[in-house]
Amino acid sequence: MHKSAFIWSDRYYDYSFPGDHPYKSLRESLAKKLLEERGAFHYIDLIEPHLISEDVLQIIHSREYIEFIKSKSLEGKGYLDEGDTPAFKGIYEAALIRVSGSVTALKVVEDGSYVHGINIGGGYHHAKRDKAGGFCVFNDVALIAKMAEKNFSKIAIIDIDGHHGDGTQELLYDDPNVLKISLHMFHKNFFPGGGDVNEIGSGKGKGYTVNIPLPPGTADDAYLLAFNEVVVPILERYKPELIILMVGGDSHFNDPLVELKLSTYGYLDVIKKVHELSHKYSNGRIIMLGGGGYNYDATARIWAIAVAEIANIYDIEYEHLHDCCYTKSSQFVLEKVKNVVQQLKNIHSLY
Ligand SMILES: [Zn+2]
Ligand SMILES: [Zn+2]
Repeated sequence: MHKSAFIWSDRYYDYSFPGDHPYKSLRESLAKKLLEERGAFHYIDLIEPHLISEDVLQIIHSREYIEFIKSKSLEGKGYLDEGDTPAFKGIYEAALIRVSGSVTALKVVEDGSYVHGINIGGGYHHAKRDKAGGFCVFNDVALIAKMAEKNFSKIAIIDIDGHHGDGTQELLYDDPNVLKISLHMFHKNFFPGGGDVNEIGSGKGKGYTVNIPLPPGTADDAYLLAFNEVVVPILERYKPELIILMVGGDSHFNDPLVELKLSTYGYLDVIKKVHELSHKYSNGRIIMLGGGGYNYDATARIWAIAVAEIANIYDIEYEHLHDCCYTKSSQFVLEKVKNVVQQLKNIHSLY
C-alpha cells in the first residue's frame, strides 16, 4: 500500500503573481488536470489544507516580518524583497493557505492516516526568517521540518529545485536533526548565489548541510551520477525517519530561468530512488512538495509523473507524459560534475 494524500485547495490559484511575472499557479492546475485525466484521484485522496495560525508561522518567522507581509498584502503594491517578489492584494492569505497545505501533508503522515503526503502547492525554499525572496513568502519546507522534530530526530530534506534552497539552509543551518541536501545550478551571478560545497552547516548542525552545486548544462547523466554517488550514500548512512522531497520543476531542460538540462526521465529516476529509500528507512513517510518551474507544461508533466510514482499508480498513461529521451551532458560539463562529486566525497567522508 502507498496510501497517498494530495493536498489541494482551489484557493491555491490566488498565489500567482500578476503581469508577466514567471510564477503562475497555472502550473499546479495543469498538473492536477493531467492527474485527473488519468483517473489518479480514484486512488489518491484529495484533502483540503487545514489553515494554520500565525503562531505556527512564528516557529520560523519573526512577528515583525509577518506583520510586514500583512500590511503589504493590504496595500497590494511594491515588492516584498529587492524586486523579485511583488506584493499583491491578498498575498498574505494566498501564501498562508499554501504553507498550511504543507503542514497538513505533514500532519496526515505523522498521524499515520497516510504514508505519503503531497502538496505541489508548497516548496518555498527561498524565504528566510525576516525576508521574502525568489517568489517565496513563508518557508513551508523549513517549517514542517521543524514541526516534525516533535516526533522525529532524523529528518531529511532533499531539494531538487534548480535553485539553491538558501532560505531552508539558513533557517536550519545549526540544526543536527535535519539533513539538508540541495542539488542546484551554481554559477557566477546566478540566483540566489550560495550553495557551494563548503557550506556544510554550523555548530551542532555541522555536516548536516550538503550542497551539490552543478554547472549550467548539467544533464541527466551527470545529475544522476552526482545523485547516485553523493545523495544516495549519504541517505543510506543517515537512515532518515521522514523525508521531505522538494520537486521544483525548474531543473528541466526547457526551463527559461535555469540552465540545468534534466528530462522527465532524470526526474523520475531521482524520485523513484527517494521513494524506494523512504520505504527502506522511513516506513514510507515522505512529504512531496512542489517548488519553482517556469515552463508550465514541463513542470506539470514532472509533477504528474512524480505524484504517480509516489502514489504507486504509475503506468503507460504516465509514460506518455515523458520527454523523448534522457539528456546528455557535454564532456566538459561531465568532467566538472565529476570534480564536484570528488570534492563532496572528501568533505562528507564518503568512502
Ligand atoms: Zn510508496
Ligand atoms: Zn527554483
